[in-house]
Formats: sequence, C-alpha cells, structure tokens
Amino acid sequence: MIKKLLNWFKKDAVVGHVIIPRADHAISRDAISSNALKVLYRLNKAGFSAYLVGGCIRDLLLGKHPKDFDIATNADPDQIKRLFSNCRLIGRRFRLAHVHFGRDIIEVATFRGKHSASTVKNDDGMILRDNVYGSIQEDAIRRDFTVNALYYNIANFTVEDFVGGMQDIAKRQITLIGDPELRYREDPVRMLRAVRFAAKLKFEIHPLTAKPIHDFNHLLANIPAARLFEEYSKLFLSGHAFDTFTMLSDYGLFAQLFPRTAKFLPDNKLIELALRNTDQRFAEGKSIAPSFLLAVFLWQPVVAQAKSYMADKMSEFIAYDKAMDKILSEQQKVMAVPRRYSSMIRDVWELQLRLQKKPSANSAARIFSLAKFRAGYDFLLLRVESGEQQVAEVAAWWREYVETDEEGRSKIAFHKHQNKPRTRPKSKQAT
Ligand code: ATP
Ligand code: MG
Repeated sequence: MIKKLLNWFKKDAVVGHVIIPRADHAISRDAISSNALKVLYRLNKAGFSAYLVGGCIRDLLLGKHPKDFDIATNADPDQIKRLFSNCRLIGRRFRLAHVHFGRDIIEVATFRGKHSASTVKNDDGMILRDNVYGSIQEDAIRRDFTVNALYYNIANFTVEDFVGGMQDIAKRQITLIGDPELRYREDPVRMLRAVRFAAKLKFEIHPLTAKPIHDFNHLLANIPAARLFEEYSKLFLSGHAFDTFTMLSDYGLFAQLFPRTAKFLPDNKLIELALRNTDQRFAEGKSIAPSFLLAVFLWQPVVAQAKSYMADKMSEFIAYDKAMDKILSEQQKVMAVPRRYSSMIRDVWELQLRLQKKPSANSAARIFSLAKFRAGYDFLLLRVESGEQQVAEVAAWWREYVETDEEGRSKIAFHKHQNKPRTRPKSKQAT
C-alpha cells in the first residue's frame, strides 16, 4: 500500500489541492462501515458533498482497521437533521450531528471555516467555542495533523489532500498543519495527540511539530479534567501504552498528567512492567481495567506520602489512609477519574497493606474470597517482579495459596501458621 503511494508521488509534485484517483489509492468500500456508507450516499443524493475524513482514512491507507468513521459535509447541522430521522445534534464547543444505527453512531460534521470574531478564546489563546462553517479547504487546515486531514469523496471515490497528508503518510511522519505554536496554544491536547499517533502508527513527529512541546507542555493545565481523563484512556488503553509512556515522558508531558509520579522517573521498573502487561493483554484481546495503571502510576507517591506521615508518628494504617486520599484528590484536579475507578484504585492499594503481611489462616481465606483479590494480588506480583524484595517472600506464599486447591489452601495456612483454622460458614469460604 505504501509502495503504491510512493509510486504515485514519483508521478507528481505535491502542492495545494491534490486529488488521488480511485486507481491510485487502496481504499475499498468493503473496508468502510455500511452505516457510514448509508449516510454518505444519502447526503450525496440530497445534493450535498459528503466525505469520510480523519483517522479512518489515515488508518485505511495504512492497512489498519479504523476505530470509527467520521463524515464531513457542506450540509449544515439543521440540514443534516432533516435528512436523518435517527439524528441528534450534540456539542457546544463544536456542533455535530450524530446519526444513530442501534449502538453504532456515525458522526457527521459540517465543514468548519476560518476562525472569526465569534471564536471564543481564553487568555492563553485556547479556543473555547467556535461554530463557523466554511469550505472543505478551510475545514482541512483546521484539522490537527496532515495525516488526519485526508478526505475520501463518496461521489467519485477519490482521496483529496489539501495539506500534504499523503506525503506524510508515505514518509511516516506526524506534522501539525500550520504554525505549531499557534496550534498548540489553540488546543494543548494536540501535544498528547501527536504522541498518541506517533506511538500507535510508529511514525516520527516532524521536528518542527516536536520542537515547541517542551516549552508548551504546561498548557495542559488549562484543559478540563474530564477531557484529560478521556485522553488518558486513549493514550494508555489502546495497545501502545509502553511506547506512548516513553514518548510522553521524553516530552515532559507525562509529568503534566501525573505530577506526583514525575519524581519516580525515569527508569521505573514497576510502571514499565505494568505498561508492557497492559499492551500484552490488549494484544491478546483481554479486558483492561482503566484503574489498574492509575493504581500503578500513583502507588509510589502514595507510599512516599504515607512514609512522611509515619515519620510524624502517625500509625501505618492512618498514614496510608490519608496518603491515598491526598494523592487521589490531587490527581482528580488534573484528570477527572470516575468514581467507580477511583474506588477500584483504592481497593488495590488497600489490599497491598493486607497482602504484604502474612495472614492468619482465617484472614487468608477472607482476603482470597474478595472480588477485588485478583487485582490486588496481580499488583503484588508486579511489585515483586519490579524488584521489591521486601514483599517477595509473602508474595511467594500467596502464589502457593492461590495455585493450590481448596483443601491444599487450608493446609498451607495451617502449616505455615500452625494455628488450627476455624471452620467458616460455607457462603464465606474461599472458592
Ligand atoms: P482515532 O483513531 O484515535 O479515532 P482520529 O484521528 O480519528 O483517531 P478523533 O479524535 O476521532 O481522532 O478525531 C477525528 C478527526 O478530527 C481527526 O482525525 C482530526 O482530523 C480532527 N480532530 C480531532 N481532534 C482535533 C483537535 N484537537 N484539533 C484539530 N483537529 C482535530
Ligand atoms: Mg476517530
């Protein structure tokens, strides 16, 4: 596919608006979602122009499966709504149409125009609200990266490129459209997106796109905490967590997302192992709990904070309890971790305190029967693997306990502690 693109480039010098004929690109309608095709055809039939745009075109050109299919058109939101009974208009910062097909949602956006006097910005130049419509060219240059600004025209199956995106796909590079400093000021999340796409696609970040990031990474402080949690999920739960982390750290972006963790970098074995495990699980199609990596990122800050409380004569239990509260609430100011995840994070941490002391036979069974046991136990094993010798022995004990059958478990506990296990009511017994 890339070869095809390179051949095509040899034919033509690329400047301005370039149209790549159907025969010269590898996007086939078979690879496009049937719901997206329905929307495209309906818009087109009604006399509007209709394009697939953004990540789906980039991914199709690279032979990857797109996550979603976004559509751009010259129809305005009200015109789109009139065409589709299954359509809802959403968004404040940018108004968008969502066309619903059961659980599948196709996003349809009207071409955006140049920023104007009605564009609302904050003092740092960040765009807060902007709903000016325009031409396809104007829409293209408002997108973030050249590789995200390619359009597939449903009218003739050509790909249209206004910003050199095809060339950057062939060169495997992430290039911001326009003046990088201005574009990062308008929306600092673009720094995270640059890293995310570079890690996911194994692309380089163009030097001029990379250059301002070190000086601008602090602008992430302006981003609402809810948006940063969404970005966190995309960065770390899409199968490229390790590479993404490495790059984010190099650009000083990780420290903006996890200020308390920054002190424990670089060379953090615990974090690296957890990231690799997460990527491995993703590759195997296993579920990934968003809370687990957060628990890992913030664990060392919790321990450090608890130790400093203990140095002030606080009991271990209270010190950890307070430290967990403090670290979680500080992190919440940066990114809005939903409540169900923050309570899972706390569960994993609290279990560390219980798991790292050899339990009595009874409390072993009790801990083992908890729903959250597995996450806490996996976390303990990770700590050992990362070199925490102090918990190696107790972790080995737990491993034996977990890997044997029910009868064996009561024997292990009995043998190790030489205290006769009391019989527990059936419902509470470990399974
Ligand atoms: P993914 O594979 O993660 O979905 P994507 O490129 O489709 O990647 P989206 O966040 O779904 O990313 O956005 C769709 C498109 O909207 C992008 O390809 C880009 O053209 C445009 N876009 C998204 N976010 C921004 C932004 N912050 N600034 C400018 N353009 C953006
Ligand atoms: Mg997308």
